[in-house]
Amino acid sequence: MSTKKIIIAIDGHSSCGKSTMAKQLAQKLGYVYIDTGAMYRVVTLVALRKGWIENKVPDKAKVIDGLKDIKITFQWDEKQGKNTTFLNGENVEEEIRRLEVSENVSPISTIAEVRAEMVHQQRENGKEKGIVMDGRDIGTVVFPNAELKIFMTASPEIRAERRYKELKEKGLDVNFEEVLSNVEGRDKIDSTREVSPLKQAGDAIVLDTSYMTREEQLEWTINKVKERIEG
Ligand code: C5P
Repeated sequence: MSTKKIIIAIDGHSSCGKSTMAKQLAQKLGYVYIDTGAMYRVVTLVALRKGWIENKVPDKAKVIDGLKDIKITFQWDEKQGKNTTFLNGENVEEEIRRLEVSENVSPISTIAEVRAEMVHQQRENGKEKGIVMDGRDIGTVVFPNAELKIFMTASPEIRAERRYKELKEKGLDVNFEEVLSNVEGRDKIDSTREVSPLKQAGDAIVLDTSYMTREEQLEWTINKVKERIEG
């Protein structure tokens, strides 16, 4: 493939395979991968630890004030072939994937000041191009000029099933209904929030992963990358 570097924005619903695909793609292309969902999860984790969320309602002023003390970094874990997320140098990768964080992350991500700070950091990461970023507002807000935008989706039941298996494999005690309700609840908050709601960018290409294997998804995407780089 040519050496021209581009920005690849992958948006879509929760648990439809965005980060797995984005990761594999970045590895294949030698690009940097940024998981923006992990960034909102880190802020949520801090808010939970500090007791700034009550009944899923965050104390906005405290969260906003707390942002200055949160430094989020990523490190590529060669052995596991995945990204590890750090909060002020502490490895929080496992903790930010827990259901408690999933259940509180969407309210945190509706806070405009939180979004402004995350978007600022995300743009800094993309300055040099050669980046794959996944999230909800990458093609619409963070990088509206990204050369390739993909909007991923799959049916809520299929997404919940995948997430359920993943959590079970990690040995977590969850039930399917709980996971499905989390997936549907997050879709609703993410799509209807006032600031940067999840929506498909006009120039994004839809990838419905309901009945596709991971390999098929990756192959489909690589073909799109080739079209952008070589075309
Ligand atoms: O991608 P993941 O499911 O880990 O994201 C967790 C949550 O973070 C989403 O449900 C959404 O509320 C929020 N998010 C966001 N904007 C992004 C990425 C994630 O609002 N760019």
